[in-house]
Amino acid sequence: MDIHEYQAKEIFAAYGIPVGESILCYTVEEIVEAYHTLNTDKAVIKAQVHTGGRGKAGGIKLIKSEGELKKEAKKIFGMDIKGFTVEKSILTEAIEIDREYYLSFTVDRSTKSVIIIMSSEGGVDIEQVAKDNPDKIHRIPIDPFVGIPDFMARKFALKLLDNETKHMNGVAKIIKSLYQLFVDKDASLAEINPLVITASGELLALDAKMSFDRNGLLRHEELLSYYEPTEEEKIEDLAKEKGFSYVHLDGDIGCMVNGAGLAMTTMDMIKLYGGKPANFLDIGGSSNPQKIVDAMTLLLQHPNVKSVLINIFGGITRCDDVAKGLITAFEEIDTELPVVVRLTGTNDTIAREMLENTRFEQAEEMTDAVKLAVKYQ
Ligand code: GDP
Ligand code: MN
Repeated sequence: MDIHEYQAKEIFAAYGIPVGESILCYTVEEIVEAYHTLNTDKAVIKAQVHTGGRGKAGGIKLIKSEGELKKEAKKIFGMDIKGFTVEKSILTEAIEIDREYYLSFTVDRSTKSVIIIMSSEGGVDIEQVAKDNPDKIHRIPIDPFVGIPDFMARKFALKLLDNETKHMNGVAKIIKSLYQLFVDKDASLAEINPLVITASGELLALDAKMSFDRNGLLRHEELLSYYEPTEEEKIEDLAKEKGFSYVHLDGDIGCMVNGAGLAMTTMDMIKLYGGKPANFLDIGGSSNPQKIVDAMTLLLQHPNVKSVLINIFGGITRCDDVAKGLITAFEEIDTELPVVVRLTGTNDTIAREMLENTRFEQAEEMTDAVKLAVKYQ
């Protein structure tokens, strides 16, 4: 779950990180009104969308007059930034920047820990820096039992500042606060890019980005109001409601499988034969037609699905029951998509006979089933 910059800044501010003031606006009129409350002519309009790289996409505009403000605001509202439509923006006083730094905390799989990432070369080109000058980016794992004591925060600050001591204590404080809020809120990312030193020598988080694991949300009622589900998250929520284990992926073969282990194997096999799974879906051990209708409805909401692979291992759940369930369910499901079925285990011969000459394509072996499904990409 991603939140907007202005929301992340609310959290930062509550932890004492300097963020400056932002005024949230939904229309050009509101932006103009907000502009009149500022003490300066120079302001910045910032599109609020759940993606980074807004500056390069034209969603961040520095303006110097009311005329310019109106012109740019009109362009920004409704603009498409990487598939997200701009519905709200913030207006901030323009800051004169002396230096831009990068600071973030995230969860690192390789070290199985939270890591701090820092660079003295922050700003919109951070990805380029990571590519061309990886030495300029410091990544250090944090021991959860030690956290970040003061001495360590100062050491980190010096790394971030390239050994410039002037702002060491200020940066150390920001590092500690950002780590604290990252841990407190069960975040998966807390990022300041850029963290700036202003022309008047002050530290400021000019941008703020946070992401959360939605599984942690039940511990954080205070974050619920920030939740604006994406299409993908809406499908995942529906799956949860129906009691399925579901993970949305970006391929085009919809998978309906019983058992998490078999689901993982099915996805691996699809990859092996050159396909891409659209999802992980474990329907559990039931042949209930309603469950199949629900599962198919879910799969069909995925915009890219070109074929469906149903891979069921019959144990206590008998394959003939599953076949019956499939036939009943597909009387109700309205789709032309090819559906490949592989049933194996208890009563599989009876089940296969039942599905002969129906809308389903069948295979006995997993390999053959996967090849059939991959053929439709
Ligand atoms: P992002 O592109 O989505 O990461 O959005 P940011 O909030 O990081 O803004 C992109 C860039 O715009 C920053 O790296 C700054 O260089 C610039 N920028 C943003 N706000 C200001 C400001 O108040 N003054 C100046 N001079 N530049 C700004
Ligand atoms: Mn940024």
